[in-house]
Amino acid sequence: MKRALICGISGQDGAYLAQLLLDKGYDVAGTSRNVQSMDFGRLATLGIDGRVKLLSATLTDFRSILKALAEIQPDEVYNLSGQSSVGLSFDQPVETIESITVSTINLLEAIRFLNPRIRFYNAGSSECFGDTGSMTADESTAFRPRSPYGVAKSAAHWIVRNYREAYGVFACTGILFNHESPLRPRQFVTQKIIAAAVAIKVGLLDKLELGNLDITRDWGWAPEYVDAMWRMLQAEVPDDFVVATGEAHSLSDFVARAFAAVDLDWRDHVVVDPTTFRPLDIAYNCGDASRAAAVLDWRATLTMPAIVERMVAARLEQLST
Ligand code: NDP
Repeated sequence: MKRALICGISGQDGAYLAQLLLDKGYDVAGTSRNVQSMDFGRLATLGIDGRVKLLSATLTDFRSILKALAEIQPDEVYNLSGQSSVGLSFDQPVETIESITVSTINLLEAIRFLNPRIRFYNAGSSECFGDTGSMTADESTAFRPRSPYGVAKSAAHWIVRNYREAYGVFACTGILFNHESPLRPRQFVTQKIIAAAVAIKVGLLDKLELGNLDITRDWGWAPEYVDAMWRMLQAEVPDDFVVATGEAHSLSDFVARAFAAVDLDWRDHVVVDPTTFRPLDIAYNCGDASRAAAVLDWRATLTMPAIVERMVAARLEQLST
């Protein structure tokens, strides 16, 4: 039986990845900064909260990592933790950069020191590309990040590549484009839109305030994206992969579909508040996952319209129970 350690198991991807690995017969452990005070509601929603071992670990603290690796003795480590909000990264740049880069290098150092045979997955991001105009980004596209979050993810990407090339560690970065699900935390704009559309429908809310609706993103389905993470660590050769649907949609299109799914016209309820615009934003991003298709046999099957429908249905069901 293989053993996996998921750092950041309390989040959206951590929960889906834990479920996927349990289904594959793995022994799964996961870290959170403070297991005592953390709510593991996403694991409970998936019905797997009793099936994973949970450990407290702060990945900016080297001893924490040594202890977790020594205790779990994993074959695979997935690092999904760190400050994950682009918007918040403008308000907390130091925390963002530290929590993403220091944790990555600490994990790689610990792996190199304790057991270089451990395979390592790093949660990279399409935010590294910045604005690509109307171009689709692949693994050869230059990084021009436009947020502290993107800068941190870019640094972590190069740290991973350096450990792979310099020390032969089996370390991969998944350059994941946005991916959503009913488990997405409420502070992210997609989940905020879904929750508001449903709340307005049932009379709990009147208006939804949003920032820039003209941005365009490539939105995928989180359960499919965690499968790409796992496939990267099963490959013969470690590498970095773009994970994306290849379809770009505007945020206004996302909003329109969410409201239409509950028979509302979004223009009657949405207010654009320019004071919430980010200091810098990415107008367009869209990914080309051809390498993942060719090497990992991975392809996205769900795109934005189907994702919105599933998220709305899940929110309606939550409200009715
Ligand atoms: P979540 O925000 O749902 O989960 C991230 C986890 O990281 C949290 O559960 C939390 O765990 C931990 N965390 C949060 N803030 C900090 C912090 N300041 N310092 C240390 N740990 C922190 O993210 P996702 O599951 O959606 O994403 C997983 C990874 O993939 C993240 O690294 C994210 O940046 C990246 N990513 C996500 C994309 C997406 O669209 N979802 C797109 C591209 C990349 P706890 O509080 O239990 O310690």
